[in-house]
Amino acid sequence: MIVPSDIEIARTAAMKPIMEIGSQIGIPAQSLVPYGHDKAKVSASFLRSLGARPEGKLILVTAINPTPAGEGKTTTTVGLGDGLNRIGKRAMICLREPSLGPCFGVKGGAAGGGYAQVVPMEDINLHFTGDFHAITAAHNLLAALIDNHIYWGNALDFDLRRIAWRRVVDMNDRALREIVGSLGGVSNGFPRETGFDITVASEVMAILCLAEDLADLEARLGAIIVGYRRDKTPIFARDLKADGAMAVLLKDAMQPNLVQTLENNPAFVHGGPFANIAHGCNSIVATKAALRLADFVVTEAGFGADLGAEKFFDIKCRKAGLRPAAAVVVATIRALKMNGGVAKADLGRENVDALRAGCVNLGRHIENIRKFGVPVIVAINHFSSDTDAEVRAIVDYANDQGVDAVLCRHWAQGSAGIVELAEKVTALANSCEADFRPLYGDDLSLMAKIETVAREIYRADGVTAEASVLEQLRAFEAQGYGGLPVCIAKTQYSFSSDPSLLGAPTGHSLPIREVRLSAGAGFVVAITGEIRTMPGLPRSPSAERIALNELGQIEGLF
Ligand code: ADP
Ligand code: MG
Repeated sequence: MIVPSDIEIARTAAMKPIMEIGSQIGIPAQSLVPYGHDKAKVSASFLRSLGARPEGKLILVTAINPTPAGEGKTTTTVGLGDGLNRIGKRAMICLREPSLGPCFGVKGGAAGGGYAQVVPMEDINLHFTGDFHAITAAHNLLAALIDNHIYWGNALDFDLRRIAWRRVVDMNDRALREIVGSLGGVSNGFPRETGFDITVASEVMAILCLAEDLADLEARLGAIIVGYRRDKTPIFARDLKADGAMAVLLKDAMQPNLVQTLENNPAFVHGGPFANIAHGCNSIVATKAALRLADFVVTEAGFGADLGAEKFFDIKCRKAGLRPAAAVVVATIRALKMNGGVAKADLGRENVDALRAGCVNLGRHIENIRKFGVPVIVAINHFSSDTDAEVRAIVDYANDQGVDAVLCRHWAQGSAGIVELAEKVTALANSCEADFRPLYGDDLSLMAKIETVAREIYRADGVTAEASVLEQLRAFEAQGYGGLPVCIAKTQYSFSSDPSLLGAPTGHSLPIREVRLSAGAGFVVAITGEIRTMPGLPRSPSAERIALNELGQIEGLF
């Protein structure tokens, strides 16, 4: 069967007016702020009014270690939300907003795929409701205030070598990674080295996603560390009186965006932090609102479960007091074969032995998620090249681990292809088997937290770090940040920090190269290996194939 491209399917969607989608879940029309006919923000006053309602069940969609193309977490999140609605459940979906960088680079959009998408996919993947532009503006306002403060005499005594705030743009642009600013003479300020990150890597993005409300947002913005004095004491955004104006720029961006799936079910698409130097989940505001509007809420976390699920549990759920009821691990036969040693070019051919070998990757993610007290089920995201023998091998493997694995055809069939998973997830979530607990307590030292994640989740023998890194962690503790969770930036392709070690590697150690404090977001970032906060474009970027056709429609987005 030939399935049309994502954008062709999205274009034929029979969308309902967004007010109707809102009324399906009990949001009155006057509480929706429409952005055109098919997107709306939910008003802050309505969000406040939801406070006392009981919460539905939260289901996390995560995955095995991925191939470069992604394993279909977003597609499966959308499919499962539609599947739950199809079997009569009141279910909502919570997704991240896509970044322009990957849209025009390699990976493409992030609105799902096939017959499991949120729409209007072009808008969602491009400017949407302007949230990322607002975040970019708020971030860069703070950067401008820093340089302006120094220009007018530097009363706060910034050490020009220790300014900790860069600029951002929502584009993959390696030319901006390291720059020298303020060139051109006295009237342009003091020249200094700086650079750009992609907007999704901004601490403002992480803050927007972790803030409970506008007051919390403003407090967190004020707590951002923008630089240090010569005596190494920190200077905060609030010292520059930047927090008020930044919150003003972010006022609308804080409100969740309501859209619909191809099957007219409600979805919040809100916030989109990086899954390496940030926590990679949609906003707490959207998730909590959805839990009060629906009986089941399906959400996803970025990358594989070693990164995404761990941060979802240890950062988002810990901070927001969320108690997930079940986790779905998306596995694809192609990614398991890759984890079993098959080269990318050969993934289309049946290879049950390699698949069995690669299943150790799935097995370890299952064990890991259970450490958080959350019951697991495996969703096999079906690709047309999969064979029956391969599917059977995964099901048998999962059953041996004591978990169900269900073949899902939502990408090709929409909700009709994912009914069995929807039923089993409902049963699992309703079993009340879940007894969620974060992996580590707040009171462990920062290094002990990093070691706990490294040993328990990555299965490293230990952690290595230069004396300067250890010293920095002790300094964070001395400044009162010892109680924060850690956010480890690591390759998504392996449990280890070496992207070529697939499967279930052991005997490795986790080298921490650098640690950074995200004092506003409220976590300490530990960076392993080369983690880029400003990606580059490939030799032949998707942008070359994106254009308007004769009808004025967008072609080439996927
Ligand atoms: P993730 O969220 O894990 O990064 P996505 O859900 O965004 O992955 O899917 C990545 C890409 O793979 C999308 O372009 C999507 O259309 C495609 N895709 C997902 N599932 C399937 C499938 N079963 N068959 C073919 N393509 C798929
Ligand atoms: Mg995704």
